[in-house]
Amino acid sequence: MPQPSRRVPNRLVALAVALGVVAALTVSTGARQDTTMTRLFSPVEIGADVDALPDSERAALAHIIEAARVMDGLFLEQVWAGNPAMLLDLATDTTNRGRARLDYFLLNKGPWSRIEENEPFVPGTPEKPEGANYYPAGATRDEVAHWFDQLEGQARADATGFFTTIRRGVDGGFAIVPYSVEYEGPLALAAEHLRAAAALTQEPTLRRYLETRAAAFASNDYYDSDVAWLELDAAIDLTIGPYEVYEDEWFNYKAAFEAFVTLRDDEETAKLTRFGGLLQGLEDALPIDPAFRNPALGALAPIRVVNVVFTAGDANSGVQTAAFNLPNDERVIRDKGAKRVMLKNVQEAKFQQVLTPISEEALSPVELRDVTFEAFFTHILMHELMHGLGPNTITIDGRETTVRQELRETYSTIEEAKADVSGLWALHQLIDQGHLDASLERSMYTTFLASTFRSIRFGIDAAHGRGVAIQLNTFLDAGAVTVDAAGRFKVNHDLIRDAVTGLTRELMTIQATGDIEAAEAILETRGVVRPEVQAVLDRLSGVPIDIQPNYVSAYALADDQR
Ligand code: ZN
Repeated sequence: MPQPSRRVPNRLVALAVALGVVAALTVSTGARQDTTMTRLFSPVEIGADVDALPDSERAALAHIIEAARVMDGLFLEQVWAGNPAMLLDLATDTTNRGRARLDYFLLNKGPWSRIEENEPFVPGTPEKPEGANYYPAGATRDEVAHWFDQLEGQARADATGFFTTIRRGVDGGFAIVPYSVEYEGPLALAAEHLRAAAALTQEPTLRRYLETRAAAFASNDYYDSDVAWLELDAAIDLTIGPYEVYEDEWFNYKAAFEAFVTLRDDEETAKLTRFGGLLQGLEDALPIDPAFRNPALGALAPIRVVNVVFTAGDANSGVQTAAFNLPNDERVIRDKGAKRVMLKNVQEAKFQQVLTPISEEALSPVELRDVTFEAFFTHILMHELMHGLGPNTITIDGRETTVRQELRETYSTIEEAKADVSGLWALHQLIDQGHLDASLERSMYTTFLASTFRSIRFGIDAAHGRGVAIQLNTFLDAGAVTVDAAGRFKVNHDLIRDAVTGLTRELMTIQATGDIEAAEAILETRGVVRPEVQAVLDRLSGVPIDIQPNYVSAYALADDQR
């Protein structure tokens, strides 16, 4: 496969045109083999069935992609004030090394490698500013924190809010600047495209999101458009605006601009609806003391399965997002709840580019035919659903409390492990009941085994990785997973189901009884990387960490409309 060229976002092209460097940007950034940059992200085409959309929606989509492109430039500015100038500088360097740097700059949205602890890769780059470009240059975290502490009421809420930056006022003191003022020009341009799309779409819930979000860019009040996003249910599924706060490493207050332009996956959505109707039956059959089961599960938070056409800004920096929960605004969550969005074609690309080569190193060759994307994705869906099953509100010595409160810092790891392992338990139940194909029985265990190495490779200091280590070690101890003389892993299909059921029971019982000592003991003895697992990780140095998307259907659409 030829190396796909990485397209440069429009706004950057506009910037570049102004400086007469567009020629450098429109050719392939190609050959990048001279640095470690190249090995970490595997280039891959990402697209969805845009041609299946009605004309009205396809025309709306073209405007939506234009609006999304604005988020790339906005996010670059948010990351570091020096980014726009450095981008133009990099764009003039037509050597192979220069192209490689530009390519990696666009992937990381700045000159720091996000998966290598923000190591700079462009000579002369300062350290990555922890407060990003949300706070005044030269200010320290303590100064800003001290100023926050002195504020009261609305001023404090505004200063620490998602949608403001902090700048120096004319008096030299700190001042609050709303995003609608700080980023006025680009936001007006994005709003224009959103309104043009709203005028074209025939889908009322999409039109409402587009119109309210365009209004929010000018008013700085995102509430109505967050609600419209929760209610969005259309062929085009869109998330655009300021959302995640991780780029603000000082306080996690300020929201970064991003966009996910996607199409709803109707087949997987139907599968989710079908599973939704089976959840109470699964809860009633959980392998725990019947007193711990929930006789009436609450309403399910909406889950959307979509395929990505285009992403921009924070959403397209470093490791690609495979699923997200939004909004983050507690006010909206309290009033209207939240929604989970799962990016199926991104998951599939990661499966092919990363999980498949990992499997080849980690598993016995005979196991490889049982590693399938169908099993991988179905288990991810079930993992999400299982977060809603099992103990949540619990009673200890007559006192009503929650699992989260009782298990404290062990909660996330135990909960993630529970969702994984009980997801396997639940899928086997649904196979027994004829709701899922019997072929999944072998593939789901083997595919899960392969995926444990990918999770642990990301590190066991994160809840998910450590939860996965607990499962893998439990299966090894039970003989349900074995290691051959060559150090390759294999599922023992005679023992795996019992091991899965046993661990589901163990974890859910810890949750139901709020037994933090038992949780800590599990983390200590089984939430670790054992030598036979480390040996596999050591063999994975040539396997990419993640993917670098080339949004083929978005670019084809843009060419069509020209
Ligand atoms: Zn989870």
